[in-house]
Amino acid sequence: MNYSIRLFKIMGIPIELHITFILFLVVIIGLSIMNNSIFWAVLFILLFVSVVLHELGHSYVAKKYGVKIEKILLLPIGGVAMMDKIPKEGELRIGIAGPLVSFIIGIVLLIVSQFFDININGYPLLYTLSLLNLMLGGFNLIPAFPMDGGRILRAILSKKYGYLKSTKIAANIGKSLALIMLLFGLLSMNIILILVSLFVYFGAEQESRVVEVETIFKNIKAKDIMTPNPVYVTPDMSIEEFLDFMLKHKYFGYPVVENGKLVGCIGIGNIHKKEGTVRDYMEKPVVVSEDTDIKEILRKMANTDRVFVVEGGKLKGIISKTDILRAMSILELKEELKD
Ligand SMILES: [Zn+2]
Repeated sequence: MNYSIRLFKIMGIPIELHITFILFLVVIIGLSIMNNSIFWAVLFILLFVSVVLHELGHSYVAKKYGVKIEKILLLPIGGVAMMDKIPKEGELRIGIAGPLVSFIIGIVLLIVSQFFDININGYPLLYTLSLLNLMLGGFNLIPAFPMDGGRILRAILSKKYGYLKSTKIAANIGKSLALIMLLFGLLSMNIILILVSLFVYFGAEQESRVVEVETIFKNIKAKDIMTPNPVYVTPDMSIEEFLDFMLKHKYFGYPVVENGKLVGCIGIGNIHKKEGTVRDYMEKPVVVSEDTDIKEILRKMANTDRVFVVEGGKLKGIISKTDILRAMSILELKEELKD
């Protein structure tokens, strides 16, 4: 489901409003009208324009590095330029570009507002907007994921510590900061602060997870992580025999093999009655080949607990979620000990 509305394109990049942003906008405008104070509605819309300009700053530099920008998505807590991938060599400049745009807008508006300002409901519009842009730039420079400062920090650190370790450092700073914000948010019952802290925490978590998986699983194929020659059952095995078999081997799922070919799979979740044989309860197995890469395996495992590695119709191995987690821990240690 797509919960956003496309507005228009700038520099070939679609600008989209997320449904939560639209709700937020409606509430702000509603409150402004009810309180006879149009200032807040105008300010909010101009803040939205500022956020788009900030994201366009990132996008402009990213495009120079050949990055494809899918869209700029606006959420109540800020904007995201969705890029297909951020090239490591361009990360520093791409990261700086957004806050730089915000600071330039902030400083220009601050200077202009000293000579001329637009007063709405007694509030100086340009001056307030200049402060918001300076805050936007400043907040994003906090050296923690998922803020721009986190990317800048990683780009600087990765010259010395490598990409994965730098990502973890920046993500851990981000998570610690998020917890501090959450604490202050809860103490002061500040809902915005609580939301921002959650956004920061999960953003940092996700970034480090993605980088971790991409780094340590690079070039890993099914045959590298599968459990080879797995135990299997036959279709004519009775359910009672199967239960004893499961107890003995202690796995939750098994391949079903007939005449040397994989014909199905069966697991603890398939059995509801003690009558019948394995054939009555087995289901269609999800199959990969020995050279299937990890991304494809993870994609297939989104809907199943295990995939079967088959080559020329013959069962070669099995990959369960436990196999993935174990391989991940070992590969991670290997990666850490490398540098
Ligand atoms: Zn930014």
